[in-house]
Amino acid sequence: MTNHQTLVSNSVAGAIPIAVSARHCHVSEEDFFHLFGANAQLKVWKELSQPGQFAAEQVITIKGPRGQIDKVRVLGPFRQDTQIEISQTDAIKLGVSPPIRMSGDLENSSPITLIGTHGILHKENGLIIAQAHIHMSETEAASFNVADQDIVKVEITNEVRQIQIMNVVVRVSPNYRLEMHIDTDEANAASITTNQTGKLMKMG
Ligand SMILES: [Zn+2]
Repeated sequence: MTNHQTLVSNSVAGAIPIAVSARHCHVSEEDFFHLFGANAQLKVWKELSQPGQFAAEQVITIKGPRGQIDKVRVLGPFRQDTQIEISQTDAIKLGVSPPIRMSGDLENSSPITLIGTHGILHKENGLIIAQAHIHMSETEAASFNVADQDIVKVEITNEVRQIQIMNVVVRVSPNYRLEMHIDTDEANAASITTNQTGKLMKMG
């Protein structure tokens, strides 16, 4: 499964395309070379839907006290801090209890061991369950009447299920295109299908 794969191409006006983020790892430059060797290169394997973001050729194994998960995709470009995003189901398998966080908010996140082809790295923090969020441009934010960091809810309806995801963070940047990112647990709970969209609603 690819990360941030867009499952929808056309959408009703106002509807938000849903993309499912499989477990993945953002890496710092330093950690990347530790895991894959000094001569390694962070190469594009697949472009992701958000401009400039890509799935790299490399995968790692992540290991917790109870178990490990192989073939966790490394994403590029390099980040300031290494950050591993998993689902609650993955957390149970690993035997860890990461917090639900926005990307980049790593204080008191969970420790995890990373295994690359060249080295092993024990991170004291960096493991999170990503909080559901919506990427959008400024124009799109204006049309939804929301601003960066707003907390909204999104209703997802299809033939078999209807769920509301609460505490969804709005993230606005000129570099973003309209897309909601949820993890595999949320996608499975909603029986997400292709061409799936969500409806943005205000909290409360
Ligand atoms: Zn995202």
